[in-house]
Amino acid sequence: MLAKFAMSAVLAAALSAPAIAGNFAATLLPSPVAASNEVQRYIKVPAGQIALRHVRIIDGTGAATQQDRTILIVQDRIRAVQDDGAPIPSGYKTLDLAGSTVLPGIVGMHDHIFHIARPNLEENGHFDSPLIVPQMTFAAPRLYLANGVTTIRTTGSVEPYTDLNLKHAIDKGELPGPHMDVTGPYLEGATSPFIVMHRIQNTDDARRTVAFWADEGATSFKAYMNITRGELKAAIDEAHRRGLKITGHLCAVTYDEAADLGIDNLEHGFFVNTANDPGRQPDVCPSTVGAPTIENMDPDGLAAKALIAHLISRHVAVTSTLPAFEPLFDEHSSLYAKSLEAMSREAREGYLLVRRRLMNAPEQARKAREKRWRNDLALERKFVDAGGLLMSGPDPTSTGGIVPGYGDLRGIELLVEAGFTPLEAVKIATLNGAIFLGVADRIGSIAPGKNADLIIVQGDPSQSIADIEQVQLVFKDGVGYDPDKLVASVKGHFGQY
Ligand SMILES: [Zn+2]
Repeated sequence: MLAKFAMSAVLAAALSAPAIAGNFAATLLPSPVAASNEVQRYIKVPAGQIALRHVRIIDGTGAATQQDRTILIVQDRIRAVQDDGAPIPSGYKTLDLAGSTVLPGIVGMHDHIFHIARPNLEENGHFDSPLIVPQMTFAAPRLYLANGVTTIRTTGSVEPYTDLNLKHAIDKGELPGPHMDVTGPYLEGATSPFIVMHRIQNTDDARRTVAFWADEGATSFKAYMNITRGELKAAIDEAHRRGLKITGHLCAVTYDEAADLGIDNLEHGFFVNTANDPGRQPDVCPSTVGAPTIENMDPDGLAAKALIAHLISRHVAVTSTLPAFEPLFDEHSSLYAKSLEAMSREAREGYLLVRRRLMNAPEQARKAREKRWRNDLALERKFVDAGGLLMSGPDPTSTGGIVPGYGDLRGIELLVEAGFTPLEAVKIATLNGAIFLGVADRIGSIAPGKNADLIIVQGDPSQSIADIEQVQLVFKDGVGYDPDKLVASVKGHFGQY
């Protein structure tokens, strides 16, 4: 009886054992299987023995660009990176890519599968309630893959079962798309502008919600604006007990408070810290949602230095989501033809209307926004200089014309605007995400043994970062996908489905 009890206790413990890093890697990056007919349509280069010849390489580590190289791929892995003159073993299919650059597949760390729709949006900005969040199960994964985003973290789900089933369908070769770290549903507090979100009522509810979705297969979590310190702590502890990480787009909880509670990651650069918003009450999201704090934070000041040092000492990573903020701050560079073509008519009209309103805002408001933008760019730069782990993702809700994939590439360009070199910006968008996820031995840079997850672009992004948009071919697990076909299949549909 005792033995039987002991056995069942062991069994029970095994069944509820926390996920370990190896399990996470196997879940995120399962062994590839044969593609269905549906996926075959988008494949340009089937898996096998492939030699990418005469290529320039930006390897994702921040190291100098390599010229005149050959990459050998065998099935889903990189076999070797060698001089162009070195002999290529027999049996390889050779692609001559002179003039092109190979980069690691992007690891997108704020890469949603949804869109935000404002019903009956009027020229004066009014829209009918409630705010709707249509799921982009069809368009988003194709747009990510077409633009070289081979791994995504969904960073807040509005249809968690859809996202989990989508991941399984992609992993089984039934649908085209990236590797997915499926984030559970938003961990939102008692109030929310989004009708789609569960509102957590107390600490036990926070713990139970994390436990339930971890059991269902979610591999990461995201806390949202109205969560309180107590609820956030309960969610962090439950996620960590299972070996899973948790990030937050916070408001009621400050960056310093969240760091002390043990959060792993903060979203939106330094834009949404509410610590110094006038009149802020503990555990309440102020209506100013962080604007005064970032506007008045001197990037060279003591407060900024202390905040950055605190985040780094607590090992809190920061996700840069510059494309989501760009339309607010830069009137000239946020109209992208490719993104507009991908959008549905309603999404495009909504975006253009919001853009018109932003551009016509009073000068004083625009100057204040500009200051917030400049301060954030400088703070992201200083965070990295001090040793912080900065990652990247576009937050593609298309409010600002941000579309999956195109937004990820734009994010890299904006990191260069922030003062990073092109090589540093690529590292932030590739290897740094892999480091955070604990899978840097598998993805995020170009090296023998790693996944053949690669972007091939025309030109040289290390000289002209805009070349990163000239995507010719995308390898995921050693299979070469045709970006044009993927894009054509979703044209006019982002915003619709
Ligand atoms: Zn987001």
